[in-house]
Amino acid sequence: MAFTYKKDAQDKHGPVEFDALIKIDKERRYLIDSKKSGEYVFRVLMPWSIEGIFAPSFKVHYLNKKPYLCPTMIGANCDFCNTHREIRSDPQYEADTRDVRPSYRYLMNVGDVREPTSIAKVLEVGPQIYGPIKTAQDTGFYGDILDGTNGHNVYLKRTVQGKVADQILVDPKPSKLANPEWENQLLDLCGLIPEVDEEIIKSLYASHPWKVYEPNPTHRVVSAPVKTQPTVGLPPQVPTTTLVQQPAATETLSNNEDQVADLMARLKAKQAGK
Ligand SMILES: [Zn+2]
Repeated sequence: MAFTYKKDAQDKHGPVEFDALIKIDKERRYLIDSKKSGEYVFRVLMPWSIEGIFAPSFKVHYLNKKPYLCPTMIGANCDFCNTHREIRSDPQYEADTRDVRPSYRYLMNVGDVREPTSIAKVLEVGPQIYGPIKTAQDTGFYGDILDGTNGHNVYLKRTVQGKVADQILVDPKPSKLANPEWENQLLDLCGLIPEVDEEIIKSLYASHPWKVYEPNPTHRVVSAPVKTQPTVGLPPQVPTTTLVQQPAATETLSNNEDQVADLMARLKAKQAGK
């Protein structure tokens, strides 16, 4: 006997996807397919804790197709982040920069509007989806979009053509939760984020298959400014040089400063919008 090849059936056996860092039951996971185009309607549910946040963030490096929490999340040193900062503006290290760059991820409790009888789920997204939702909430244009009675559904249209493009729209019309039980099913999202393992990051860094970059410290200090100068031809070489020479502690601090500056800019934009 022989049968026709069925891609859908075969896909269930791989290729192996990124291992999920957030361990959660299948029925609790709201999945947005990264392989095919589709439309989704969900409701972002209200904060589950007294802190009043609806979407905690975490920072990962994807190494060997697996996500690893970045130690800077707990204020520790991260060799990958340090190197990323050192090489990201130099085009010759583009492939290495792509391999080690940190990614921000966000978790939200959501309800599947198209399956109102289902249990509340958890959605994990990147900044491209989190950003517009946060903006919609902060502008106050629609009021509190998380509200159970007068909140707003979120539409996501994903187009996959070689690369993934997402369109996010907040329903301009307020609505009640499709399932009022969802608010009683909120999960402690911070509790889903595992502990940072600094040791594993150290060992992964030690064995990382760099494509162009030379992690040997003696090479790094001598060659970085020399290579940067002729290749990029940018007048301000000062930041690159300064970064290379900064001790690890200061780099972690400057990373936090980046985040604070980003937050301040968003707050200013929010105030200006009012
Ligand atoms: Zn890192």
